[in-house]
This record gives sequence, structure tokens and C-alpha cells, in this order.
Amino acid sequence: MDFLRTVFFTDISLFMGISSLLVVAILTFLYLKKIDEIKEREDKIRKLEDNLEEMDEQARLIVKTDLELSQTQEELDRKITSLLALQRLSQDLSSSLEEEKIFSHIRPEIISELGFELCLVVLKEKGSLVAKTSIGLDNKESLNVLLGLMKQKDFLDLLIKERILYPNNLSSSFEQVRKHLKEEIKLKSFIVSVIQTKEGVLGVVILGSFSEEEIFKGVRETIEILSTQISQAIENIALFEQLYNSQQELEVKINERTRDLQRALEEISKINQLKSQFVSAVSHELRTPLTSIKGYASLLVQEKFGKLPSDIKVRLERINQQSDSLVSMINDLLDIARIESGRMKIDIQKVDIVELAKRVGDLLFPQMQEKNIHLKLECPESLAIDADKKLIERVLINLLNNAVKFTPQDKAITIAVGEEKDYVKVSVKDEGIGISQEDLGNVFREFYKVDNPVNKELKGTGLGLSLAKNIVKAHKGDIWAESALGEGANFIFTLPR
Ligand code: ATP
Ligand code: MG
Repeated sequence: MDFLRTVFFTDISLFMGISSLLVVAILTFLYLKKIDEIKEREDKIRKLEDNLEEMDEQARLIVKTDLELSQTQEELDRKITSLLALQRLSQDLSSSLEEEKIFSHIRPEIISELGFELCLVVLKEKGSLVAKTSIGLDNKESLNVLLGLMKQKDFLDLLIKERILYPNNLSSSFEQVRKHLKEEIKLKSFIVSVIQTKEGVLGVVILGSFSEEEIFKGVRETIEILSTQISQAIENIALFEQLYNSQQELEVKINERTRDLQRALEEISKINQLKSQFVSAVSHELRTPLTSIKGYASLLVQEKFGKLPSDIKVRLERINQQSDSLVSMINDLLDIARIESGRMKIDIQKVDIVELAKRVGDLLFPQMQEKNIHLKLECPESLAIDADKKLIERVLINLLNNAVKFTPQDKAITIAVGEEKDYVKVSVKDEGIGISQEDLGNVFREFYKVDNPVNKELKGTGLGLSLAKNIVKAHKGDIWAESALGEGANFIFTLPR
């Protein structure tokens, strides 16, 4: 029994022991699980906290970026306003051709649009500095002191080196100017830029603000553009003045030259007049005795004073012929002089130029036949013009005469008559010896004869073309020759209809 009881109690206590162990184990397990859960939650909370912090940081960043953006926007707006103002100013400056006008374009509202309250434009003038623009600085005394400080050589030298100066520039040569601008003129911020051209430093531009400590970003470009614009405008004026002066000089020279030429022309025409008068007078004087010589020679040749020995008759015949050519030469000279001096009466009438050309062809037919020269006419049926018939006939005779004279046997000569818009064109073209380019410009001069075998054999006077030219000119027409040596010549003249 005892044994049983002992066993029973032993079992119970074992059971109890095991149970309580189990309970402890379960409880421990549950406890550990709880702890895990708590840890997990704690982790989650920490993560949440981290996230929150991150979001906070981001929110702060967003606010900062927003601030920066709006600052940038503001800066951009200022820049756009100042650029627009600069653009307007630049247009005004580039269209100014007087110095005073340049500076009148730099107005307070433009300076304010550029973001400043003070603007000084100072230029070197006859060894001193002069304020051409002074906006925002009414105190003359203060301005004069500033000009005095800036005039110092080391300050100008500094400007050439630096080009742009800010208040924080530490250079000692800038110190006095900087102090004056800050302490006397009371600028909170400013910037100084040099006005410079190829010639060197012309002056400076100062832009400043009484209210803002900091000069906005990008001001360097603004003031550089402004000072470049001013220097370009000043250069433009100098160039314009140079151009204007040289144009003026040129005009004076041209006027002088024109006057000289006019004087020379008057002189020439006077001399020409004198020459014509002289030729006229001499020809007149020569004509009277010549007519008498010619008359006697002609009567003698005709043996009106008795029969002559044949050798004397031959010589008299030569005298007679030579007096004929002398008479014709004197007549030509007289006519040229008359036309040149305007004393020749021109009898304008309706003339059929085609009929006239044919008549001249008939007139010179014997000479052409002698050399077996064929005359071609390229003309309309008829063509009426207003002209002096006798004079135009002389032109045609002279041209055809020359053509026959300078064309060898068996060749052809062509007379062509045509009508252009408001004039008639007549040409006499041959297949003769031609004229060199060198002589072509001279053949219309009085007494000019080309040195050639034909001229050596046949003695012309060299007056035919000169007379022809004078006649054509008196009709307000034109005459010229086209030719090359050995290739025939073409003499052309035009007459108004
Ligand atoms: P004039 O006509 O007074 O009797 P000329 O015939 O010599 O003498 P122009 O008619 O004035 O004088 O001609 C001047 C020169 O021009 C001639 O001597 C000749 O050298 C040249 N000339 C003129 N016509 C022709 C031509 N058709 N062909 C070649 N040379 C010509
Ligand atoms: Mg001639």
C-alpha cells in the first residue's frame, strides 16, 4: 500500500513537476514571442520615424528649392527688364550721330529698369574728366571731388587692367574712389566699368544703388554691354565725322576741279574761236588772189590769150589743177571754221536720204568704174529726214570718196541706210586697206592723214572727215569709224529723224 501510495505520490509530483515545467516552457515561449512582436513593432515604428524624418527633410528641401526658384525667377525678371532697357538704349545709341544725343538717351527710367539709382558717364575731354551723364547725383561738389579722384593716373591705369571694378576690390589706387562712393555719395553697392575703344580709354561708367547692399548677379554683363554701346556710339560719331569731313573735302575738291575744267573749257573754246576766226580770215584773204590765179590759169590753158607751146601748156594745166585743189581746200577750211563758230547757215528741209545716197553713188560712178569697184546699196525704198541736203551730200561724197580712194581694184563698197528708234543710220563700208586702232582715233582731226602708200601717191588735204564730222555734229548727229588694218573700213553716221 505504502508502496502504492509512494508510487502514486511520486507520479503525482512528477506529473506536477512536468506540468509546471511545461507551463513554464509555454509561458517562456509566449513571452519570447511577445518580445519578438514588440521588437518587430519597434522596428516598424523606427522605420516610420525614419520615413517621417526623410519626408521632413524633403519638405524642407522643397521649401528651400521653392525659395531659390522664386529668387531665380526674380533675378530673371530683373535681368529681362534690364535687357529690354538695354536693348532700347542700344537702338537709341546706335542711331545717334551727335555726341549730345548719345547722353540724352541715358535717362533715369532706363537706369532704374537696369536696376540702379545712380548712373555716371564720365569722359576724358582735353586732359580733364567731364561728367556727360549724372543721374542720381545732384551734389556738384561731391561729383567734382569724385572726378578729381578718378583723374589720377594710377586709377585710370587700374581701369585699363581690370575693366570692371566692384566695391570689394582691394586695390589701393581704387581705395579713395571707393571710399568716396561709399561714404560721401552713400552708395550701398556700385560697379565701375571702363569705356574703351581702339584709341584707348575714353572714360568710365558707374552704376550704383543707394538701397541694395548686393548687386544682382549678371550686372557685369549689363554694365559691359552698356559701356560697349557707349564706346561704339562714340566711335560711330568719330567715323561719321571723318566720313563727313572727307566727303566735304572731296566736294570742295570736285568743285575746284569742275571750276578748273570749266575755265579750261572756256579757254579752249576761246582759242578754238580764235583759230576759226584766223582760219576764216586767212582763207578769205587767200581766196581772192587764188580766184584770180585760177581764172588766169584757166583762160591760159584754154589758149584764150593765144596758142601755147606744148611744154608750157602742160605746166599751166598743172597750175590749173593745183589751183582747183587749193580752192577746194580753202572752201573746206572756210566751211569748217563757219560750222565751228556757228556761222554756217543750215538750211533744214525734208530730204530723202536714200535718194541722196543713190545720187552720190552716181556722181562717183566714174571713179569706181575706173577701179572696177562694185557699189552695193542696202536701203529701203525711201527714207525722209530733216536735214541740210547740200551738207549731208558733202558728208556722203567725202565718205564715198575716201572709200574709193582707199579700196583696191575689183572690190566692193556698200552704202547702207537704216532707221533706228529715233534716228537714221547711214554707213559706207569698203573692202580697202583699213585703219589701225591707233589711227582710228585721229582720222577725224583736221589735216590728219595716215602714213600709207595711198596717201603718198594721192595728195589729199586731210580735211574731208573733219568737215563731215562738223556737219553731222551741227545736225546733232554722231559719226564714227570701225576698222582694223587690212580689213576694210566702215564709216557710220547717225542723224536724228
Ligand atoms: P581730203 O578728204 O581732205 O581730200 P583725206 O581723204 O586724206 O583728204 P580725210 O577724208 O579727212 O582726208 O581722211 C583722213 C585720213 O583718214 C585719210 O588720209 C586716210 O588715211 C584715212 N581714211 C579715211 N577714210 C578711209 C578709208 N575708207 N579707208 C582707209 N583709210 C581711210
Ligand atoms: Mg577724204
